[in-house]
Amino acid sequence: MKWAFIGASHIASEWMVGAVRAAGDEVIAVLSGSAARAAEFAHQHGIAHALSDARELERLRPEAVYVSSTNDQHEAAVLLAASMGCHVLCEKPLATDLDAARRMVEACERAGVVMGTNHHLRHNSAHRQMREVLREQGLGRPVAARVSHSVFLRPQLQGWRIDNPAAGGGVVLDIAVHNADSLAFLLGEYPTEVTALKGSSGMGRGVEDQSMSLWQFSSGLCAVTHQGFNTPYASNRLELLGDQASLEAHGVLNQAPGGELIWRRADGDLALRLDHDNLYLRGLREMHKAIAGQPNDMASGTAGLQSLAVALAVLESARSGRRVALRYE
Ligand code: NDP
Repeated sequence: MKWAFIGASHIASEWMVGAVRAAGDEVIAVLSGSAARAAEFAHQHGIAHALSDARELERLRPEAVYVSSTNDQHEAAVLLAASMGCHVLCEKPLATDLDAARRMVEACERAGVVMGTNHHLRHNSAHRQMREVLREQGLGRPVAARVSHSVFLRPQLQGWRIDNPAAGGGVVLDIAVHNADSLAFLLGEYPTEVTALKGSSGMGRGVEDQSMSLWQFSSGLCAVTHQGFNTPYASNRLELLGDQASLEAHGVLNQAPGGELIWRRADGDLALRLDHDNLYLRGLREMHKAIAGQPNDMASGTAGLQSLAVALAVLESARSGRRVALRYE
């Protein structure tokens, strides 16, 4: 498939160009708001077309578009892709408000193209094995989940994320969406009620750089999630606790594969073997299956809409000091 990239971003440069090529596809063009940035990106990655005018994209006839501009710009890019009849993989969060995300999903449905959300973590080996254990009732009754997902935002990424609310900055939109998608992938449900706190520890200016939240699911399961930007020595963990056993994944909430998964049971602890495959490549393979009409684990546009709904509920709860109920379309 021939891909056009909208957004000369770090994630595109560090992961997605390589993943698209490893999937057997081609990156034919990059579109940036700046001609110089487009040219530099295209040169660095050996991409034939560097564009700074969206109107030039159509004549190249891309078949798929990957969107990784800032969060406020995703909608325009997805609508453009849909209007060209391209399949779309859009970065998370899909948008900064739910109406925009709905318009994106609807435009892709109307155009008859596949829309994916780049929730890469569900393609982690640990996530997939945890889901298998759950399907086999290996925890007994799932009771609780704990997601400890506080990171250190690298200096080169300390731009719009920490000082630009209009661009969709803040740690909740950045990381809580991943936590919502991970738990939905594992549990098959999204929370129905959220209560949260947020704050700035000094890195965020005008946006939160940390947040903690409690999520209630209709099955009765409760989850606690912590997302942060300013904790250089924090490890990350994803834990599922059942009334018969527990699963603990350490160091799996990253861009790069890695980490370990332990199944704690009455007969002792079992370290489950992880295959450390590239999460973004795996995501693209799932998208290929979706395009071919085959069963797949791609995070759809609707999944991106739902993870955004959770993150926005976290922000609303933190702002209002109230519990926020969630309904899903
Ligand atoms: P970047 O800040 O690297 O890029 C975002 C936009 O900022 C680019 O599209 C580019 O605009 C502009 N930009 C890039 N470099 C510069 C620069 N040096 N000076 C001025 N502007 C610049 O963002 P990220 O790569 O961190 O994130 C992009 C998107 O991807 C976000 O939606 C984010 O949430 C998501 N993301 C997803 C991840 C995942 O694992 N799924 C991981 C990281 C990010 P232009 O296109 O106009 O050139």
